[in-house]
Amino acid sequence: MGDRTKYIFITGGVVSSLGKGIASSSIGLLLKQRGLNVILQKFDPYINVDPGTMSPFQHGEVYVTDDGAETDLDLGHYERFIDRDLSQRSNVTTGQVYEAVINREREGGYLGRTVQVIPHITDEIKYRIRMAAENGDDVDVVITEIGGTTGDIEGLPFLEAIRQFRLDVGKENCIYVHLTLITYIKAARELKTKPTQHSVKGLREIGIQPDILICRTEHPLNQEIKAKIALFCNVEEEEVIEARDVPSIYQVPISFKKEGLDDLIVQKLHLEAPPPDLKEWEEMVRKIYSAKEDVEIAICGKYVHLVDAYKSIIESFIHSGVANDVTVNIKWVDAEKIEKEGPEVNLEKVDGILVPGGFGDRGIEGKIAAIRYAREQGIPFLGICLGLQCAVVEFARNVCGLEAGSSEFDDDVPHPVIDLMLEQRSRSKMGGTMRLGSYPCVLEEGTLAYRLYGVKEIGERHRHRWEVNNAYRETLEEHGLVISGLSPDGDLVEMVEFPDHQFFIASQFHPELKSRPQRAHPLFKGLVAAAKEKKRAREGERDASAAVRSD
Ligand code: GLN
Repeated sequence: MGDRTKYIFITGGVVSSLGKGIASSSIGLLLKQRGLNVILQKFDPYINVDPGTMSPFQHGEVYVTDDGAETDLDLGHYERFIDRDLSQRSNVTTGQVYEAVINREREGGYLGRTVQVIPHITDEIKYRIRMAAENGDDVDVVITEIGGTTGDIEGLPFLEAIRQFRLDVGKENCIYVHLTLITYIKAARELKTKPTQHSVKGLREIGIQPDILICRTEHPLNQEIKAKIALFCNVEEEEVIEARDVPSIYQVPISFKKEGLDDLIVQKLHLEAPPPDLKEWEEMVRKIYSAKEDVEIAICGKYVHLVDAYKSIIESFIHSGVANDVTVNIKWVDAEKIEKEGPEVNLEKVDGILVPGGFGDRGIEGKIAAIRYAREQGIPFLGICLGLQCAVVEFARNVCGLEAGSSEFDDDVPHPVIDLMLEQRSRSKMGGTMRLGSYPCVLEEGTLAYRLYGVKEIGERHRHRWEVNNAYRETLEEHGLVISGLSPDGDLVEMVEFPDHQFFIASQFHPELKSRPQRAHPLFKGLVAAAKEKKRAREGERDASAAVRSD
């Protein structure tokens, strides 16, 4: 922690899902573009040690950092906005805090004292805030988002810790930003500030006076409303920031800047930093809205009714749309529906197919059928993690003629072309037993993968237990599957592709975790480019046959 590190705490009130993660990320971006060195951190008040064992239905996507932490999906937004790789220090849960304190207690670390929420739990939380700044280089600003909503019982120790923290570091080094909702009553056509007043009151009761209020609203806040909020919430009018709904999350920093939020923050924290340079960012946002062509890409998975489960994939498509000057429309296709209805009905018209990662056998046969359809019909395809595993099973079955499968779903499958890694076999606990985080991968020259990346060695993030079974590598290759990426020791298959196809590629890692708004990931960029080409070719064919008919 540098002596001059500043701290911003972001809390949320009234309701959840107000976009605290995006607000935090946007502040991060604005400060970063002012030349400041920024770190973001999220506190999650649940008791799970990490979201790794939680169902995507409950929690949405599990975001994995380079150092292999399984974290909240907000970390994905942080990394995408500030374009910086974060570490496990950026996600702290109640479970982790208590685990650390209880372990210390068992080791006698508290020398016989009674261990209590205050000061022991709160001290551990404060330690984690300081640790976020401990990043090797001089961190100027740590932005900590407190998950949940003020008033939640489980969030209290975190709020108490951040209350104390300001006393520890001095008020010129620490501010509280509260994100709240201004409700709109349609019948009365009126904006209502009472819920905001209550949530700020709740914060003040525990000793936190917000310095800035960010007010989510469907309708503009006029001066009168701002004055009212200011009066009742004990802030200045200029400290009431309007956050009107915008069509793209990437527009939020631009709106915040217009409202003067970053000026206010640097002023309050006594930071010397020039106005932010948002030129590139604004250009990127302009492109999101201005694409003239579009493509439709099917995501064929298990959690398609819950878009949070595929957050990073959705964002990656936005980035790769920008890079290709197209709008990517996602068609959600439930893999189980393909099992019942066959692939044609659902996939006939799409310009590309993506099979994402996943766990459990539900929908597996539907995914395999979708991949076969993509391969045989020449539809651009990208498989991710389980998507690669399904592609290998599909190839082994339908091209190599093997009765193949993955031992994840069938212990007795005659040809387990996807099998457990040896070192995983002995492990029994569910949490933390996966191959997690960034690993190097060496690409084979002359392959599609190599063309897309343009380099020989890449590093990508993983989250899986099963692998391509090396015993079948030769058979797969003899039948035309190309293994285009391998771990440096050659032992683990990282990428496969099928060259007899416009674009058919799959990775054992998760490329979506490294796509950035300004730098679309090569695999997504390649898929969208291929989809664009496919669509144009189809339209060309249609035009040609129409011309023939009219001749
Ligand atoms: N269930 C598979 C495995 O554990 C794939 C995991 C994933 O897609 N993230 O290997």
